[in-house]
Amino acid sequence: MRLVDVHSHIHMMEDLENVIKRALQSGVVAIVTSSEGDDYEKALEVSRKFSPVFPSIGLHPTKAEDSSLVERVIEFIEDHKDEIVAVGEVGLDYYRVREEERRKVQREVFKRFIELAIDLDKPLVIHSRSAGKYCIEILAEYKPKRVIMHAFDGSYKYAKRGAMLGFKFSVPPSVVRSQQKKNMVKALPLSALLLESDAPALAPVKGEKNEPANVVVSLKTIAEIKRMPVEDVAEILFKNTLETLPELKRFLERRFLIIVI
Ligand SMILES: [Zn+2]
Repeated sequence: MRLVDVHSHIHMMEDLENVIKRALQSGVVAIVTSSEGDDYEKALEVSRKFSPVFPSIGLHPTKAEDSSLVERVIEFIEDHKDEIVAVGEVGLDYYRVREEERRKVQREVFKRFIELAIDLDKPLVIHSRSAGKYCIEILAEYKPKRVIMHAFDGSYKYAKRGAMLGFKFSVPPSVVRSQQKKNMVKALPLSALLLESDAPALAPVKGEKNEPANVVVSLKTIAEIKRMPVEDVAEILFKNTLETLPELKRFLERRFLIIVI
């Protein structure tokens, strides 16, 4: 099986060698690690040091008010555009930020990152918490070509609207304990789904430390819901991944000599 973890934060984890070893043993062929603040150097450094790890650089929406950080992250993305595979995670978090003034700042910063991703022709990795409707609305305005909605927590109705616009939804291992995620998997076509770990968060068992090897749990749950063989689902999700992250295709072919069709 060829599995890709399209969203994690493994550059913040310890014992990375073993974390990656277990991922490879589970069939993971690529891991995207996303920065969300001033950890951008670290994400790039880890991706340079460990194969097959690829960096996505972004800013968590709860940090949108730190204007100097926003500028630094944007500059870093521009300076390293050839090395990074996506812009993100970026988006909206209305769960942790309740005041309208502060949400407005989030929306403005989110729009800048969308424009940046479109300019650089990079996919977007979206964090959306209690803001599904608003995230999809803003994205619908800009219509970026490649979007990964990571661990989307909104209603499946908005997810369906996103899928109609061509957005992909990455499913974390916590799907085993989330009816909302199961409903989303049920409502969306397989062509709109991807795998993610969000490691070290969103483990299959609440409170445990997550790791990329657990994307197998997401895969099996999707296969169960769709009543399809695990291997067939894995291949479809792999194809979806390459459509969304064609940057990986080049790396995968070079590093593993996988002929990707
Ligand atoms: Zn994340």
